[in-house]
Amino acid sequence: RDELKIISGALDLSKKTIADVMTRIDDVYMIEENSLLNFETLNQIICSGYSRIPVYSGSRHNIVAIFNVRDLAFVDPDDCTPLKTILSFYKHPLHFCSIDTRLDVILQEFKKGFNNIEKTITEADDVAPEDETPDNVGIVTLEDVIEEILQSEIVDE
Ligand code: ADP
Repeated sequence: RDELKIISGALDLSKKTIADVMTRIDDVYMIEENSLLNFETLNQIICSGYSRIPVYSGSRHNIVAIFNVRDLAFVDPDDCTPLKTILSFYKHPLHFCSIDTRLDVILQEFKKGFNNIEKTITEADDVAPEDETPDNVGIVTLEDVIEEILQSEIVDE
């Protein structure tokens, strides 16, 4: 039965789009680009439990970077390091894509190495002129696509 579910989940991938699975921007934990990495901010980031955190500039819909919690390994909270210092040091690529991208297509992109968070926007792949309403902006990760294949939620530790 599980196998059947997985097969039908896989077959249905091409019928679904990112819009069906993404985490909407209002629910995304992110951080403003001018933040200082003091104890409070670092604590908040770690307590969020996410491994990758989008960074916005001004408006929450204007995502400009992404960092990995691992990038913070050498950050001393007493130094109050500007987040921008970390961002310019690690420079993870940001990928943008349209929310109507099909899941089979985005899965191929993940396989090619996007292996990162996707920020999704109304427009097409990899950067987007945006209709900045929260409804059509979000992020999608490989886990969101895998869950669609498995037809069940993955509970992260
Ligand atoms: P993580 O490695 O941080 O656990 P995953 O890639 O496993 O992230 O994704 C797990 C779920 O959490 C997915 O539904 C994804 O859309 C969502 N997610 C990932 N990062 C964030 C974030 N910074 N804020 C909110 N949701 C997120």
